Amino acid sequence: MKTILVTGGTGYIGSHTTIELQKLGFNVVIIDNLSNSDIKSLERIKSITGIEAKFEYGDVCDKSFLDNIFQKYEISSIIHFAAYKAVGESVSKPISYYSNNLISLMNILETMTKHSVKNLIFSSSCTVYGQPDILPVTEETELKPANSPYGNTKKISEDIIIDFINSGADIRAVILRYFNPVGADMSGKIGELPQGIPNNLMPYITQTALGIREKLMVFGNDYNTNDGTAIRDYIHVSDLANAHISAMNYLNDKPTKFYDIFNVGTGEGYSVMQVINSINKFLTSPLPYQITERRQGDIEKIWADPSKANEILKWQPIYSIDDMTSSALNWEKFLRQDK
Ligand code: NAD
Ligand code: UDP
Repeated sequence: MKTILVTGGTGYIGSHTTIELQKLGFNVVIIDNLSNSDIKSLERIKSITGIEAKFEYGDVCDKSFLDNIFQKYEISSIIHFAAYKAVGESVSKPISYYSNNLISLMNILETMTKHSVKNLIFSSSCTVYGQPDILPVTEETELKPANSPYGNTKKISEDIIIDFINSGADIRAVILRYFNPVGADMSGKIGELPQGIPNNLMPYITQTALGIREKLMVFGNDYNTNDGTAIRDYIHVSDLANAHISAMNYLNDKPTKFYDIFNVGTGEGYSVMQVINSINKFLTSPLPYQITERRQGDIEKIWADPSKANEILKWQPIYSIDDMTSSALNWEKFLRQDK
């Protein structure tokens, strides 16, 4: 069976993708430097699939380490998740974000070429669209200047991949622009693991639901939306994981020197209040929250037109917003007794 290299595979999306790959019989080799994940992910993955993923501790920015991994395994595709991802932190540590996110990608591109590995799936983000003028956003929607160094690393990474392929590199790539990944494997045994106080909505909600945080601060209710709170296209992490496998299958039939770009979202936008209403269905008392100022840098609303991924990748999400909130809550409960 084919071996898939998953960089950042002990992280949030990488661990869920490893699970979906293993369920389909792929061998997975994970590279991670554990800078934003816990080694426990490996046993959690195994507890769900019954399969041990091969783990290589190391840094994708270390080219000789990467070269050794490509020598050691017969890799057929690379799914490159490893990156720093905290928007706020990227503003205070831009060099660290540019060097980690860009050097890791360039090392992957050079090393895969050297070892004649053809397929790359890259994690990009809907952040490249900024606040779009027209919704929903298609892959043709104009990109806006990034409003954080993190967002800029995604735009530059896309350009690096495209320039490399246009230069005649003998590889194929799919760039996936994720909307808002949330939720957890339906087993409830693995999920997102934010460090410290969560910046993102869903882990803040689940921590508040369990009393770890006093109340959720809702950042603004004066947006031009139905209830005034901001709208995002939340996508269940296991649905997102499966989009990578669809992308890999799609690439297998393609010639080299080829790339394509896909939005990965459900196509449905939910406001912050709608997400709160969803989690409330699973709580004995309503989630405490307080409306506060808008968060600087936030956009008002965005959701995807995912029809290109639906049609060309033959990928469809299956989980609802209630599946997203309930699975995230189940994971938060599990985590608190598994520490
Ligand atoms: P994560 O932080 O949970 O996972 C990333 C993993 O990469 C971590 O385990 C970290 O330890 C590892 N890592 C980072 N730099 C590394 C390096 N140089 N060498 C080896 N390992 C390294 O993040 P995630 O949410 O799973 O995100 C995965 C990818 O998806 C990232 O590229 C992220 O930018 C992108 N993305 C995430 C979101 C989101 O909301 N989670 C949205 C859009 C795009
Ligand atoms: N949000 C909020 N309170 C929080 C965290 C987030 O009201 O504590 C809102 C945020 O303003 C945005 C939405 O929830 O409208 C999603 O935010 P998140 O940080 O999860 O994702 P992103 O901003 O990257 O879309």
